[in-house]
Amino acid sequence: MLFLQHSVFNPYCYMKTEEIMSYLEAKYPGEKEYHQAVREVLESVEETYNSHPEFEKNKIVERMVEPDRIFTFRVTWVDDSGEVRHNTGYRIQFNSAIGPYKGGIRFHKAVTPSMLKFLGFEQTFKNALTTLPMGGAKGGSDFDPVGKSDAEIMRFCQAFMLELWQCIGPDQDIPAGDVGCGGREIGYMYGMYKKLAREYNTGVLTGKGSTWGGSILRPEATGFGALYFTSHLLARAGQDIKGRKVCISGFGNVAWGACKKATELGAKVVAISGPDGVCEIPGGINGEMIDYMLVMRASNRNKVQDMADKFPSECKFTAGRKAWSVPCDIALPCAFQNELAEEDARELKKNGCWCCCEVSNMGCQPGAIRFFQNNGILFAPGKAVNAGGVATSGLEMTQNATHISWSAREVDEKLHFIMESIHEQCVKFGIRKDGSVDYVKGANIAGFMKVAQAMLEQGLV
Ligand code: GLU
Repeated sequence: MLFLQHSVFNPYCYMKTEEIMSYLEAKYPGEKEYHQAVREVLESVEETYNSHPEFEKNKIVERMVEPDRIFTFRVTWVDDSGEVRHNTGYRIQFNSAIGPYKGGIRFHKAVTPSMLKFLGFEQTFKNALTTLPMGGAKGGSDFDPVGKSDAEIMRFCQAFMLELWQCIGPDQDIPAGDVGCGGREIGYMYGMYKKLAREYNTGVLTGKGSTWGGSILRPEATGFGALYFTSHLLARAGQDIKGRKVCISGFGNVAWGACKKATELGAKVVAISGPDGVCEIPGGINGEMIDYMLVMRASNRNKVQDMADKFPSECKFTAGRKAWSVPCDIALPCAFQNELAEEDARELKKNGCWCCCEVSNMGCQPGAIRFFQNNGILFAPGKAVNAGGVATSGLEMTQNATHISWSAREVDEKLHFIMESIHEQCVKFGIRKDGSVDYVKGANIAGFMKVAQAMLEQGLV
């Protein structure tokens, strides 16, 4: 309502998002994911932004939507048969207003500058929400880990670091993992970094092994944090996760942590999925299956059917179907951007789902988010829900900088506290007149205001 009044009385302000979007779409044609991520944030913050003339005067938003810099490089490596291969590598340093550049590395065949720009942009606000001083960045390559041997992964990671090392540093830019890049890949990259830089500071990458500078609980942190956030969201809505049926997409590191914590909190994970189909688990996933997800990830086969083959009496695999076709209370997308479409949202509702916490970055398409919000389904966006991963990376940086190691209990307590604080920020900035919360708006405004204020205070740089 307020927004409409604003748009009627001040058409210039209403046009702001559209003006910026037209400019970006013309300047970067075809960069769809990047446009989608920017549009979502601008639409959320427009009203707040327009009540701060100092932002407009300093062109804060125009500057914020452009990355500080983009590094692009060729990565040449040799496969097991001796054939020479090459890929493109990137590091996008998006925004350093509140701290050094921080964000993961994605290895996936579909990686493009658009994908990494959307991820770097999202990361900037997500990192701002964590309460820790970290700027936003993202990197990666169109290298496809599926079907690659361990030796090929190592040679690729070393070749990737051969270029990347000059762009990063413990006080400058601190990469971590993301899709296709886990503890093993971080290990190979870290080994090569030390060799090249002759620097033995563990703080240059996060997500390291726990015996060589990695934080305890970092592998679990994204999934654990997502469930802590979900618990706060449910508690505010007078609900509890105990006994609820949960559907999870994916079976990588994030889905693994989410399955583990959801099960620990008394929920029943009744489905996981992969690019090949869905694995229904009517009795709920158990510890042995959760452990097996790690084996599946390490195999680089990228097939969820492997779970049903290993546990045939507990699981039923159906090819070509998504996790969203399985009846549940809570949906947790944990795989990839835009994995949940409007028709999936409709199917979820039809099957009784009443809450969706997006764990993957931009996992839900705009139509799906609109459908959830217009149909009374609780929804929270990835940049708030999954921020526990990078927050624990921030805790790893603190441990590295001070040369100490916290126990699992200490890290878990801090992660809890951070997720609670992120939830509070979303409520503060997203509360509606009727007392319900628009978590998309809340997360976007909270993150945006922090970065915008810092940029303003640091002048025109
Ligand atoms: N890739 C993760 C994310 O999307 C973690 C980044 C990090 O730990 O730096 O937030």
